[in-house]
Amino acid sequence: GVVGFKAATEVGAGTAEAAENRILVFVRLRPMSRKEEAGSRSCVKIVNKKEVYLTEYASENDYLRLKRVRGRHFCFDSAFPDSTTQAEIYNTSTADLVEGVLQGRNGTVFCYGATGAGKTYTMLGTMESPGVMVLAIKDLFSKVRQRSYDGNHSIQLSYLEIYNETVRDLLSPGRPLHLREDKQGTVAAGLTQYRAYSTDEVMKLLQQGNKNRTTEPTRVNETSSRSHAILQVIVEYRFMDGVSIVTRVGKLSLIDLAGSERALATDQRTQRSIEGANINRSLLALSNCINALVEGKKHIPYRNSKLTQLLKDSLGGSCNTVMIANISPSNLTFGETQNTLHWADRAKEIKTKALTIANEEVLNVPDSETDQAKLLLELQKE
Ligand code: ADP
Ligand code: MG
Repeated sequence: GVVGFKAATEVGAGTAEAAENRILVFVRLRPMSRKEEAGSRSCVKIVNKKEVYLTEYASENDYLRLKRVRGRHFCFDSAFPDSTTQAEIYNTSTADLVEGVLQGRNGTVFCYGATGAGKTYTMLGTMESPGVMVLAIKDLFSKVRQRSYDGNHSIQLSYLEIYNETVRDLLSPGRPLHLREDKQGTVAAGLTQYRAYSTDEVMKLLQQGNKNRTTEPTRVNETSSRSHAILQVIVEYRFMDGVSIVTRVGKLSLIDLAGSERALATDQRTQRSIEGANINRSLLALSNCINALVEGKKHIPYRNSKLTQLLKDSLGGSCNTVMIANISPSNLTFGETQNTLHWADRAKEIKTKALTIANEEVLNVPDSETDQAKLLLELQKE
């Protein structure tokens, strides 16, 4: 027949871009809350567009006694002060990665930080100030509509949670899902794929999904700080490249990680402490993978947790990865902020694999008009 698929094309092989592919790391400082303003002071300063300064002294008294400020500077791809808008965060940290997804390269963005540091605000945001998840989908819609050759495109969403090493569908809550390996990497079997037709519906869908996130038994109205939420977006469209029709598929993963603060294992016999240990397991596994990747180890322990299994092709694979580290300015959370900055600093060293293959199929358009018409008919049937 006229419809014949060629092998995937080489993209970026041997270019500077392919050679230098590392995780981009951004830090976002959130504003002081009213409560913090009353009972604490700031211990973080954004020095310039890339630099964060964390002061070491614990109190005003220490400062007076030491007569000098001892602290530490950290440098990142960007350091965002508390006045930064959601759009600025998206444009600087994620817009290029989303463009990459439209070129057929997978992309992953994750927010890391302690509970209350601003991860969910950054990822989901509010109706008035939508975050990275919504802005990314908006961007995908507008670009794909412009570029698609025959109006054919699809944007599919799935939203899942990892809580206590159990994977659940946030769009259709029910039984836990099993992870299995397939050609695309690790996937959750039976996960809902929701086809989105406009950006407007997405915020509501995700807010509803967030309501399905596991809540702590003691704080029924709050989302658990121990659950990881992962939004996966699969975008597919067709475009004309010279005389060929190219079908391109890209995968974008947007991840709101569980709070990175140390889980308090108060009582070994209670469910809570087991949950704590498991959260440690996922985040600990993440930090172990980061260490192994930074040290260039052959064996990376992805299989140690659900989170790292799912992130496997994002951390070490041929994927563009962005980490947004969220921090609070208050000296009450000095230890957590130091911890977050430490891991963010380390994540800068991770090199991801050089990119060679884009996820696409090329279709040669036949010369004769009748064959072209046949081809279009076949495409429309799909
Ligand atoms: P996390 O998800 O890391 O636990 P949240 O995103 O829920 O933290 O943020 C904690 C609180 O701070 C929320 O009330 C949120 O609205 C607010 N907040 C976080 N970041 C910002 C920001 N950049 N601007 C304004 N408010 C913020
Ligand atoms: Mg949150």
